[in-house]
Parts: sequence; C-alpha cells; structure tokens
Amino acid sequence: MTAEGAVASPVQELLDELHARVQTVTDGEVATYIPALGKADPALFGLALATQDGHVYSAGDAATPFTVQSVSKPFVYALALHDRGLNAVLERVGVEPTGEGFDAIRLEPDTGRPLNPMVNAGAIVTASLVTGDDYGQRFQRIIDGLSAFAGRELRLDHGVLASEERTGDHNRALGYLLRNAGALEGDVDEAVGVYFRQCSVVVTARDLAVMAVTLAAGGVNPVTGERVVGADTCEHVLAVMATSGTYDFAGEWLLRAGLPAKSGVSGGLMAALPSQLGIGVYSPPLDRRGTSVRAIAACQELSSRFGLHLMRPVNRTTPVLHRFLRGDALGSQRTRRHAEREILRREARAIAVCELQGDLGFAAADVAVRAVSDDLAGVRWLVLDLHRVPRTEPVAVELLDSFAAELRGLGVTTVVSTEPGRTPLAAAETAFGTLDEALEWCEDALIAAACAAAPDGRLDLDAAVPLSEQDLLRDLPADMLDVLTPLLAERSLEPGQALFEPGAALDETLYFVVSGSLALQRLDGDAPEPLRLASMGPGTAVTGLTVADDRGAYRVVAEEPTVCRVLPAAAVKALDDDHPQVVEALHWAMARSLAARLRRADAQNQALIGSVP
Ligand code: GLU
Repeated sequence: MTAEGAVASPVQELLDELHARVQTVTDGEVATYIPALGKADPALFGLALATQDGHVYSAGDAATPFTVQSVSKPFVYALALHDRGLNAVLERVGVEPTGEGFDAIRLEPDTGRPLNPMVNAGAIVTASLVTGDDYGQRFQRIIDGLSAFAGRELRLDHGVLASEERTGDHNRALGYLLRNAGALEGDVDEAVGVYFRQCSVVVTARDLAVMAVTLAAGGVNPVTGERVVGADTCEHVLAVMATSGTYDFAGEWLLRAGLPAKSGVSGGLMAALPSQLGIGVYSPPLDRRGTSVRAIAACQELSSRFGLHLMRPVNRTTPVLHRFLRGDALGSQRTRRHAEREILRREARAIAVCELQGDLGFAAADVAVRAVSDDLAGVRWLVLDLHRVPRTEPVAVELLDSFAAELRGLGVTTVVSTEPGRTPLAAAETAFGTLDEALEWCEDALIAAACAAAPDGRLDLDAAVPLSEQDLLRDLPADMLDVLTPLLAERSLEPGQALFEPGAALDETLYFVVSGSLALQRLDGDAPEPLRLASMGPGTAVTGLTVADDRGAYRVVAEEPTVCRVLPAAAVKALDDDHPQVVEALHWAMARSLAARLRRADAQNQALIGSVP
C-alpha cells in the first residue's frame, strides 16, 4: 500500500469524532435578550483548531458566520494595551474577577474603575482607550485589528447591530454609571455605540481559532505571518482571559479545561494554549451563565484528550547537556607537530567542551550551568556549543552570560560555537561558526600559554620549523637528512592561495609546512562557503593524496602566509637508485604517522560514542 497525496490526519479524525458526539448534546437555551440572536439555529455547531504553525483543522459548521459579541473583548483589550501600554490601561480598567455575570453593575468602590475588561462595563471603557481622534476612528482601528487577528477582512452584521442598539439600555445605563464614576470620558452614546459595533462584527469558528492562536503565538498571526500585537500584550490578555474570560464560571472553567478562554452570548467561544494552539467554537445554546453548552463540552474533552491543561507540567524529553567532554577526549581536526601534540597530551584536560541541546529557557539553562560548574576542576578554557539549541530565551542568555563572566574572574575563558551571526553571549571571549574551530582556538591558546610558561622549552611557536623537527623527518638519522636537504625547493603561499585544487593530478610530492597554516576544505555543490574540515600546522606534511577522491570536492588552501619545503615526486624516484634506504625510511615514517592518526581518530570516536547517554 502506498500513501498517495495527503494521508488523513489523526487530529482531523479525532475532531470529527468529538464533533459528532458533542453534537448530540441538546441542553441550553439560545439567548433572546438581543432579539436578532434569538433566530439562531440551536443545532449549529462548528469547531476549529488552529496550530502554532498556521494549520487549521475544522469540523461541522466552522464556516458559519455569527456575531462575535463578547469574544471581541480580549482582542480589543489587546489593541488598547498595544496603543496605551499596560499601566495606562490598568489605571482605567482593573483585572480582578467579578464572580458575576457579563452585565455586572459593580465598579471598584474607591476608583470607579470597572473590575475587568471581560465584563461589559470594562469592555466599554477598554474600547474608548483604543487609539483614534473620535469614535469613528476608534471603531475603524478595532475592526482593522480584529481583521488582522483573524487574517481576513471582517465586516459588520447591521441587523444584529440594530437589534442590539434597540435593546441595549442596560449597557447604556452602564455607560452613564461609568461616566458618573469618572471611568468613562466623553459622549456615553458614542462610547457604548463603539462597543455595540465591536460585538456585531461577523466571524466564524475558524476565525476564532486563528484569532486565538495569534494570541497563543505571541501576537503573530501564523496564517498570514503578520505581527498584530507584541508578545507581552498577549501574555497580559491571556492572563485576564484565564481569570475572567468566562465571568462567574471562570474558576471551574480553568479548573476543568485549563485554557484561557472567552465566551460570547451568540454561542461563540475561543480558547488559547500558549505556544501551541487556538480553538474556536460556535454553538448557540447557552447554559444559565451565558456560555455555550457544546463549547464547554468540546473544550473540556479536547483538553483532556490532548493533554492541553495549562497547569500540566511539561517534561523535557532530551537532557539539556548533550555532551560534556574534556579536550583529551575530544580534539580539533588540526594536524599538529609532535611537540604541540605532547603539550596537548599532558594538558588538554584544561579544555572542556559543553554541547547543549534543545530550547534554552530558565530551567534548562540553570540545569546546564550547575552541571558544568560541578565539573570544572582544572579547566581553563570552556567551549559552549549551541548548534543544537534552536531557541534561547533572554533569561537563558543572561544566565549563561553571567556564568561566563564569573568564570572569567576565575581565569577560565569561555568561547561559544554557534551559527554565524548569532552571538548570544557578551561575556564570551569569542564566537566560532563550528565547534572544531572553537576547539582549535582553545588548543592554540593552551599551547601558547604552555610555551609562555616555559620559555626555555624547545618549542618556539613563531619560528619556522626546520627539517630536523618536521614530524616525518624527526626520527631520520642526520646523514639521511643531509641527503634530502639539497633536494627540497621552497614554496610560499598567500592567504587564500590553493596548494591543491579539487581534482588535482595525483603525485607523491611531499609538502612540509615550515610556517603558516593550511586548511583542508570541502566544496559542496550548493553550499555558499566551502566547509573547513581540518587544518595543518607547521611541522606537518601533506601530499596530493589528501585531496584525492572520486568526487574531486576537496582542496587545500593557505589560511595565512605559509611557507612549505617541497620534495618533488621525481626527486624521491631518483633517490630510489642511490639511496634506497632513505626512501624506505621516508615511507616507514609516513606509515607510522598514518597509523598514529588512525589510533587518535579511533580514540576520539570511542570517546564520542561513550559520551552520549
Ligand atoms: N453584546 C452583548 C452585550 O453586551 C455581549 C455580551 C456577551 O457576549 O457576553 O450584551
């Protein structure tokens, strides 16, 4: 059997099945106090679920239009917060649950503020805080804002608006009370008129799901990609929805469904789970507290089936510490002369490599910092590798940064390896695009420090490496070196100049690096930059074999001004007649060097395999 085209999503199947079951619930009454709403068909039931990446699942009457009513309130609150800032809005509208219905008449005794923006009194004041020179402009801003949340142009239902205006005396009375208490400024009819209009905007259950997920996603509509409001604003709106979104049912709602939500008298409800999804429901029959009966049933079941409760602990499945190794187990891909290798063999434990993985928030960064600081004995260089960290919260950057600053005080240098252009730590010494380059930098620093600490030692890093100290030649007796020396030519390379281009003709010419540095690069078809695989320092040797492969994708280039001594293949051939023992010694030296490198590569592989839990 093959999967041709799209395979039915299990989420869609679950949603359809749930919809069919909840459809059979027939409790509740359609609201009639706004006469136009009373005409709604009680059998209508639409359900939609929008994901953080912008996919919308829907079932039943998810495309049926209805007026948004109170479900508009959180979005208009978001616009007011965006336009005025949290403190200015808080001065005018509180955030305490009322424990009363949507039309509660209670205002805060000493300030006259309405208790929260989810009840009508609070919503009337909130609408008056949206930017605009007059109420016409304010309503335009509101309908544009609601449209941006929904990702399509919304319009008004003039029939419902007229019906609400005719029967809206309770809300007008609230307006006068608010003005009398000093909570509302200007013309009451105009202020209440904007509120009526925002309630009469037409949406669908699908729209509500998209609007909800825009809040859940921190203010960017994932379907259109448009940023509507800031992430802080969404945080504030969701908090108020959680405590007051379903009026005097808010406590039990949060307990059972565990989702910040807002209900409306036409039977709409939207719920949002931060960073995950938005739900939109439409079903006109309401319970005695004004919330859609089927919406409650559907959301509670979705929440328990999908594990959506906000208070549910989220367990991290992968440990934040991917690997934590010392420099003796994990070395860079730089080929170094014997004396440098000796220093690293003795002291490489002073380098520690910490590879982190997964998103870094407060808890993960804290765990990582504690795990690393518990195991830093003798460490002087710390590489923090963030290639497996897709996202860092500001708090994680702050924690890692102050950790790096503290380490600096203790004489430990922190370097970061991460994607180019992303340097999250100010206290890090430097940042590299690859872990290998970061490691190589630490090894260089360690070797330089070791040489500086023992200046009378044999290793002068700045001096050209003579033939007698070249890795391949250091075990050769002096008379053999004397035979080789006159055969060697010198070749200088500018930075960027290639020693071997891809597909170079294979010969056995030997290049001894006297000073500078060579890099082995791989050129991958579509990659903009060649990949740096390894490097070769003074005292090491390279031949055309390094780049010999079928694909012809490798090259060797100088990374800095570099000088090589060259032993041409023809010269080696000629030697074979007069000094076969020199050629044999050379071949043995090459074989030994290769064997030693294989042993090192094998040890490194073992350390890497053993280090992953
Ligand atoms: N427009 C309605 C009113 O003010 C909204 C109430 C609601 O949806 O809860 O009466």
